[in-house]
Amino acid sequence: MSIDLSQSPALDSQAAGVARVVLKPKKSKPFFGRHPWVLDSAVDRVEGHASDGDVVDLLTEKDKFIARGIFNSRSRIRVRLYTWNPGEPLDGDFWRARLAAAVELRRTLGYDNPQGACRLVFSEADHLSGLIVDRYANYLAVQTTGLAMSRRLDVIVPALVAATGARGVMLRGERGIGQQEGIEVTDGLYSGEAPDGPIFIEEHGVRYAVDLAQGQKTGFYVDQRENRRVAADYLRGRRVLDMFCYTGGFSVCASKLGHAKEVLGIDTSAKAIAMARGNAQLNGLANLHFEAADAFEKADALIASGRRFDAVVLDPPKFARSRQSVNDALMAYHRINRTAVDLLPPGGILITCSCSGHVSREDFLYMLSGVSQRTGRSIQILEQRGPAPDHPVSATCLESDYLKCFICRVG
Ligand code: SAH
Repeated sequence: MSIDLSQSPALDSQAAGVARVVLKPKKSKPFFGRHPWVLDSAVDRVEGHASDGDVVDLLTEKDKFIARGIFNSRSRIRVRLYTWNPGEPLDGDFWRARLAAAVELRRTLGYDNPQGACRLVFSEADHLSGLIVDRYANYLAVQTTGLAMSRRLDVIVPALVAATGARGVMLRGERGIGQQEGIEVTDGLYSGEAPDGPIFIEEHGVRYAVDLAQGQKTGFYVDQRENRRVAADYLRGRRVLDMFCYTGGFSVCASKLGHAKEVLGIDTSAKAIAMARGNAQLNGLANLHFEAADAFEKADALIASGRRFDAVVLDPPKFARSRQSVNDALMAYHRINRTAVDLLPPGGILITCSCSGHVSREDFLYMLSGVSQRTGRSIQILEQRGPAPDHPVSATCLESDYLKCFICRVG
């Protein structure tokens, strides 16, 4: 019997033995709008048997096909959607084509320096919800934030190796994800060779060591690549305070590219600070100092001691981990930005970032407006930036618009 898929896609899923996730009435609009997360609260029932990690079809309450995705009973994201085409199976060829398209995009964007680092796959923004892949020279770091992707690493990793020729692929877990998704992620080598120490990458001619085994995230904050370069121009000849400096991304770039006069980098992580010092040396720079300290306490101490800077970079960790914590996060952003303004003379430069997806650009602007009012200092926003283009934003999943980097002149 032949079935006309365009006429009766729901029948196709029945024929293929794929379980069907049926939505509650009036819940289908976001999914016709191609949002890839079907939350448990939208689901009415599952018809047929679906185990975690299985392919399922998403149907309206009237049995109309919407999309095809992968089921996970243990996650609040009950189904992650990957295709809206009823005739497209989620098989090996499908994943290989998706991955090849993501890798090709970076090639066309020019991120193909063999010594460079870039994001090859950015989850929802590459229609691969739950998968992040960063390339560090000829090694890959793979992070799965959804069970759908962690169950398919046997297809994904060989496809990535084929597309990039990578020497080794390391797996990295994300904090808290095991519990949210019911997956076990063990950091370590997945295939090929493990590097026998840090990897050395090059970004705008600046060299950095990256620890793929133990560094934060997948090892380096590649999303700030273009912001580090642009920031360096504003930091020219200045005394810079780089708060939350990690391994010295902004600091080293400011000194090497921007010829900043001197840089003080602060981070709570002693490991990151040790690497930051190493990165300064690696680039033959002597005008950088790094200190392991809490940024809030250090900023207060700097104010109290009367020390001042000509520019402050603030690149804190994600303060808002959920929608409920947005207000607390905004208070923390306010506090650190206010202290930064206090450390600057008129004409000082403030480069202030937020990587909390739950904090919108508008919220962040209001926060800065509050800082201006409280301090009585003018804040002119010179540039409102986002991540580098290898971290696209999906127009149908605005949660992928997370990074803000504002360059401001403080009067
Ligand atoms: N600007 C960096 C990335 C910063 S990521 C770069 O370009 O590479 C945020 C950093 O904040 C992390 O390194 C983390 O260790 C640090 N951090 C978190 N809480 C902190 C605190 N209270 N004080 C100082 N550093 C903190």
